[in-house]
Amino acid sequence: MINFTVGPVQSSDSVRAMGAEQVPYFRTSEFSEVMFENERLVKKFAKAPDGSKVVFITGSGSAGMETSVMNTLNPQDKALVVNGGSFGQRFVELLRLHKIPYTEIRLKPGKALRAEHLAPYEGKGYTAFLVNKHETSTGVHYDMDLISGFCKRNSLFVIVDCVSTFLADPFDMRELAADVMITGSQKALACPPGVSVLVLSPKALGRVNEASCVCQYFDLKIALKNMERGQTPWTPAVGILRQINVRLKEIEDNGGVEKEIARIGGLAAYFREKIKGLPFEIVSESLSNAVTPLHPVTVSAYDIFLRMKDEYGIWVCPNGGEMKDLIFRVGHLGDLTKEDYDKLVAAFRDMQKKGFI
Ligand SMILES: *Cc1c(COP(=O)(O)O)cnc(C)c1O
Repeated sequence: MINFTVGPVQSSDSVRAMGAEQVPYFRTSEFSEVMFENERLVKKFAKAPDGSKVVFITGSGSAGMETSVMNTLNPQDKALVVNGGSFGQRFVELLRLHKIPYTEIRLKPGKALRAEHLAPYEGKGYTAFLVNKHETSTGVHYDMDLISGFCKRNSLFVIVDCVSTFLADPFDMRELAADVMITGSQKALACPPGVSVLVLSPKALGRVNEASCVCQYFDLKIALKNMERGQTPWTPAVGILRQINVRLKEIEDNGGVEKEIARIGGLAAYFREKIKGLPFEIVSESLSNAVTPLHPVTVSAYDIFLRMKDEYGIWVCPNGGEMKDLIFRVGHLGDLTKEDYDKLVAAFRDMQKKGFI
């Protein structure tokens, strides 16, 4: 199979080789060094402000989203949240569950966020802003300069879900004045699923210290205390953390985060050029390098997913819910090459020849 989904994605040979090793005992200085190196490289790649800290949580990206809400927001906050698809909806449900007052900015699928969406909330006493920088469900990549300008003017605390865009599109936490950055192990980090990564600015650390988190496992005060010695309070996904270490060093050795972003961007551009003439429409107004969301004009998107899987040995990424038959996505994350895209496009052309699309 060739995997063009948005996660889990294909891992490099070195990441897979690490996955084949025995999982070591971890209350050791050697494992602490791995954790410190992971922290250092994540902060570097996220361009985190001085004094930021990183926490590695065992759980998928959604665990990172919930941990952020539970540890940095409270019922005295007034939050604005962008809801342009299923990941925006997840933030909305978390805010409701944890009783954080909020207002939702709802966007139709595929639509970009514009200044007029934010203007009504200027100077209205909001304290926090939550956004999925890349709404992976619809493939819309939001304008972070626009959001950051609004948040700076209004002194908002900013939580950014970068799960599918970290390492795939530019992100400068310091310049954007973002306070929490969330990512996960199985998207552009291209490791197995199971670890969520949080980068916390000094302002976020202040909020964590004042919060009373009513959950032991995801209490960031406990996690941060342990991370001072490169450890976690509970047994973490040791094997995945070691694979993350291999992967971060691999990116660093290959020229750093800018090189990796350019590599993924190059694959996305190559694919988008090659599908010209096929009966697909790109449905997002503002694309990320991570994913190309496609609407097949002639058939059900889900049927394309099934036929690709069963007849061509290729996974494209289906959509759920109302978009199931309308949109499928082609990812550009993980260990993929131009030759892989040539095979994918050849499969689409073969389908076209046979009259399936
Ligand atoms: C994948 C993803 C998540 C996390 O999903 P999990 O299934 O919990 O890993 C969160 N936000 C965005 C934007 C994502 O793409």
